[in-house]
Amino acid sequence: MIYDTLIIGGGLVGAAAAVALKQQQRKVALLEIRPPETDETRLLQGWDARIYAISPANRQLLQSLNAWPDESRIQAVTRMDVRGDQGGRIEFSAAEIRAERLTSIAENRWLLAALWRQIRALDIPVINQAAAGIESDIETATLTLADGSSLCSRLIIGADGANSWLRSQAGIAVREDAYGHHGVVANFHCERDHQGVAYQWFKNGEVLAYLPLPDRKISIVWSTAEPAKLTELPPDELAAAVTAQGEGVLGKLSPLSPAFAFNLILRRPETTVGQRILLMGDAAHTIHPLAGQGVNLGFGDVEAFADISRKAADIGAHQILQRYHRSRLEPVRTMQLGCNSLFKLFGEEHLPGLPWLRNSGLNLVNNLNGLKNRLVRQAMGL
Ligand SMILES: Cc1cc2nc3c(=O)[nH]c(=O)nc-3n(C[C@H](O)[C@H](O)[C@H](O)COP(=O)(O)OP(=O)(O)OC[C@H]3O[C@@H](n4cnc5c(N)ncnc54)[C@H](O)[C@@H]3O)c2cc1C
Repeated sequence: MIYDTLIIGGGLVGAAAAVALKQQQRKVALLEIRPPETDETRLLQGWDARIYAISPANRQLLQSLNAWPDESRIQAVTRMDVRGDQGGRIEFSAAEIRAERLTSIAENRWLLAALWRQIRALDIPVINQAAAGIESDIETATLTLADGSSLCSRLIIGADGANSWLRSQAGIAVREDAYGHHGVVANFHCERDHQGVAYQWFKNGEVLAYLPLPDRKISIVWSTAEPAKLTELPPDELAAAVTAQGEGVLGKLSPLSPAFAFNLILRRPETTVGQRILLMGDAAHTIHPLAGQGVNLGFGDVEAFADISRKAADIGAHQILQRYHRSRLEPVRTMQLGCNSLFKLFGEEHLPGLPWLRNSGLNLVNNLNGLKNRLVRQAMGL
């Protein structure tokens, strides 16, 4: 049998691609070495510290895939409050743009479970093995598995994460620029109700975000050059440090999960397509989390490819892959450039006048309602 698409990697992006393409009646199979937990009773014990802000456009995408999870574990954000290091401040509110919410905060494993329930409901075959080799010609690609068997497909999608196996097998070079920062993530209970407000502070070259969760909880992402100074603290001291950096806006924080750190690297592969292969999600791009757009870009890849290939007789044809590649260039580069510029603007401590300029800039945009609302609608994918 020849598949239409084999997808390597069943993280959020690969799982969403599998469901989207299966909905279009494609013959799809998914390779995943670590299928996620889908049992609700176990998922309800504790909170995942890997949290995403899902844009309204991607919420609609997941709803169209019947994979938007139960909202009991999801927090709608109705206002964002971003503060600079010298009195600069910009606020966005859903009411100002007549929207119900700006974004939705959701746990990685809660979203993954909803997608994997659809994978099972649609009977998408899941192959619980690592790929060992790949060969392609002008018509098909063949994947050899660890047990020596092989699978043939019109297209192989690599949604296998930042260190993509498929990308390296295909010989696609990738430019990697470390930000010199790690993202430290952890969850806390807060003394005061957050009222659905997300906060962000740009301070001393570091970026701290408070992402609201249901039941008076928050998740944080703290971008810092010295992660060990946070991850090695006892839980109560970490909570005190996060409370202080966040100016005590939510009162005293109490620890809910251990902190862990991940290295922040900007990755730009030279291409996202090759002969009968295509990359999506972190395999195709990684970005600083300060705008919460990493996984949103990945869902954007899924939506773009599903649209472009919808009516194609041959889903892996050269022109289809090239159209996908071109369609993702601008949104991905714009987001990477925007996040980099913001990161550098607030990371520079020693240039005279810059702190004044960046904080005045925030205040200026805050007072230009037309521009501000356009920016926020763009980030929401509207
Ligand atoms: C520790 C950590 C914390 C993060 N926290 C945040 C955050 O707070 N906010 C945010 O916006 N972003 C965060 N990110 C980034 C975010 O997780 C990614 O942008 C998003 O998950 C990308 O999804 P993906 O499906 O492309 O890749 P992944 O989620 O990496 O999924 C790849 C999948 O491929 C599978 N796989 C890999 N190789 C193979 C193979 N050879 N064969 C079969 N299967 C394979 C893996 O098991 C995995 O399930 C974090 C990333 C990490 C690593």
